[in-house]
Amino acid sequence: MYQHYVRPGSEAQGEQPGHAVAILSISEGSSDIRIVDVNSDYQRLWGGNRDEWLGATPIVVEQEAANQQIFAQLHEALNPLRHSPNSAFEGISGLEVSRRNDGSHRHIEWRITAMGACQDNAITLVLTQLDVTEKMEKEAQLERLATTDMLTGLVNRSHFDALLKSELNRHERYARPLSLIMLDLDYFKNINDSYGHDVGDQVLVKLAHLLKSNLRKADSCARWGGEEFMLLAPETTLDQAVRLADKIRNAIKHAVFPIEGCMTASFGVVEVHAKESGKSVMKRADNALYQAKEKGRDRVSTGGLLRSAKQA
Ligand code: GH3
Ligand code: MG
Ligand code: MG
Repeated sequence: MYQHYVRPGSEAQGEQPGHAVAILSISEGSSDIRIVDVNSDYQRLWGGNRDEWLGATPIVVEQEAANQQIFAQLHEALNPLRHSPNSAFEGISGLEVSRRNDGSHRHIEWRITAMGACQDNAITLVLTQLDVTEKMEKEAQLERLATTDMLTGLVNRSHFDALLKSELNRHERYARPLSLIMLDLDYFKNINDSYGHDVGDQVLVKLAHLLKSNLRKADSCARWGGEEFMLLAPETTLDQAVRLADKIRNAIKHAVFPIEGCMTASFGVVEVHAKESGKSVMKRADNALYQAKEKGRDRVSTGGLLRSAKQA
């Protein structure tokens, strides 16, 4: 039956190098799927040699349960082909995380297609797999680089813009409270001037840790620029955001930084209004922060509406 068929190798026509290929056979009325042939990349991916694989059950993903699930999906998709040989089987495909016993994992892109119609009561299938672990890790790394501030590890400005946009959409749709806190270290230039830029950097890193440890998981914290930071607090009213800002203000004041004396910061806090644009809410936060600076620093300002906490 296969004498006309050239055993697939990575060099086979139409195959990208690195594609693992297994030819499978499934008999009518049986749930058994057996390997008829494998290429060298399949052996490289899953170990063993060709002779060991012939007649064995194929591996799509290392976990038995996940494998079984894929085969169940395959049987279901093949049903029309069994009943009417002329019907089309478009194939099934997926992306799986294949975990190994040593804790490492690989991302496997796979696809199963049919080689022609049902013949001699058997269907011949082609399983194609590609290990995309490195590609995915590179993409994740690029994504991290594009969204993270290199010094502090916090979200960077452009990613914060995207987060704000998405939270504003949610706010508009569900009318849930959303607050924004802008904070700026007081007299930070003096730190650089007195201790040098490296110590200034250490202060910023320490501050980033402190901010993260004072926030909830749903909150976002970004380095907006230099010594300016932005906190986005979903499900948080103005009153609650002022209390949060004041808690952080106190934490900064009492934290130990690699300098003599203490650091302080000023805060502008606003709650997003109905249908307010990102630009407008940022402007109000900036104005509130300016007011906190004007009134003497080391304080929280809302731009003038609330009276609780140590506010301007
Ligand atoms: P104010 O209380 O009005 O905010 O005074 P300030 O000195 O904090 O503000 P100013 O804007 O005059 O100075 C900010 C300083 O932050 C100046 C700049 O050198 C420093 N800076 C900005 N980015 C970095 C950085 O990445 N590392 C360090 N070490 N310093 C930075
Ligand atoms: Mg400052
Ligand atoms: Mg500043």
